[in-house]
Amino acid sequence: MDTIRENPFTIAQRQFDIAADLLDLHPGLCKVLRNPQRELSVSFPVKMDDGSIEVFTGYRVQHNLSRGPAKGGLRYHPQVDLDEVRALAMWMTWKCAVTNLPYGGAKGGVIVDPKQLSLSELERMTRRYATEISVLIGPDRDIPAPDVNTTPQVMAWIMDTISMHQGYTVPAIVTGKPINIGGSHGRNEATARGLTVVLHESARHLSLPLDRARVVIQGFGNAGSVAAHLLHEMGATIVAISDSQGGIYNPGGLQPNAVQQYKQNTGSVTGFPEADTLTNDALLELPCEILVPAALENQITARNASRIKARIIGEAANGPTTPEADEILYDQGCFVIPDILANAGGVTVSYFEWVQGLQEFFWTEREVNAQLERIMSTSFQNVLRTAQERKVHMRTAAYLVAVHLVSQATMTRGIYP
Ligand code: NAD
Repeated sequence: MDTIRENPFTIAQRQFDIAADLLDLHPGLCKVLRNPQRELSVSFPVKMDDGSIEVFTGYRVQHNLSRGPAKGGLRYHPQVDLDEVRALAMWMTWKCAVTNLPYGGAKGGVIVDPKQLSLSELERMTRRYATEISVLIGPDRDIPAPDVNTTPQVMAWIMDTISMHQGYTVPAIVTGKPINIGGSHGRNEATARGLTVVLHESARHLSLPLDRARVVIQGFGNAGSVAAHLLHEMGATIVAISDSQGGIYNPGGLQPNAVQQYKQNTGSVTGFPEADTLTNDALLELPCEILVPAALENQITARNASRIKARIIGEAANGPTTPEADEILYDQGCFVIPDILANAGGVTVSYFEWVQGLQEFFWTEREVNAQLERIMSTSFQNVLRTAQERKVHMRTAAYLVAVHLVSQATMTRGIYP
């Protein structure tokens, strides 16, 4: 991992610039799309269990609203900053466009290590943060969802807080809720399930048998752990897994269920019996067919890209690869499925949850998964066709598709006033 963390927002803007150049986008439009439309910073007090008062800082950024209400997750992490939230919001705009969901992009975050809070402190912090950002969010304005360290329970507290303010239940204010209060079947697994669809399509495109693939997974949270289970079920061999504490490696294969159980008991995957331990840096460079970064930004950079041996990288995480690394990987024949396509299954089923909440009409898991597969594979084929036609790698192709749609919407609506 890089000791100096590249600024994610600068990276997001550089990725946009590449597509804007190729699309020959009007300079005025570039200026509009390079920056977020709205940014809210909040600073708010929370009563801690010992009676003291702690002040937290949080953000909600809306990048672009041309194609519909804003959509994007909330992150609780000690390293959250405004530029990270800006980048994540911009990536959400492109992600919703690449999958043709009727949303713009947003993201939120609070600077906090939730592991240091008790459950009741976490609840009070969440409810107060929800109150602070209530000036921006709403079922037809901006709809938050889970991201790193935020869970269905956190979404439930936000939904309840906003509902208490309104005096009636507002289920469509957030997605990723527990099923018993209007969550959707399949939402928990959606990011990973969507990833398996595009991995399947990529493997077919490259004539690589998925059931004989060795898979390395960085990050074992919502995205990474479910991806491990689903890929294992599909016959692939999960050879390495990591979390923030470090990684484990067994070339003979790891059983995701056993690793999950071990993590539940001990708090980490490290120390799992019958596996070697290794660092997150070493894990990325292991021999494998499929590498799934499912943790944070800036993991694959100019520093380590040439040592990556994977044939396919499926970016479950947002922003794991820098633009320099993209070029190196492309030159060495590594097929990168970019974040805005690879992890779009999460927002796709969030969209289904929002639609179900607004209509008060709920779908079966089979219906959810069938619609998810349809959207993921159509989006993949669309991006692949663009990559082949324009002779660019998959990230640039995904940006070409997305930026084109968002710029068209912006132009059609015109500049107010
Ligand atoms: P999570 O909080 O459930 O899990 C994060 C995992 O990453 C944990 O296992 C944590 O230990 C691990 N981790 C943290 N720092 C690490 C490091 N330096 N090295 C290795 N592992 C590390 O979060 P999540 O929801 O699974 O999100 C993971 C990534 O997927 C993020 O980039 C997020 O934006 C992206 N994503 C998530 C969703 C979703 O629906 N949850 C949707 C789209 C994209």
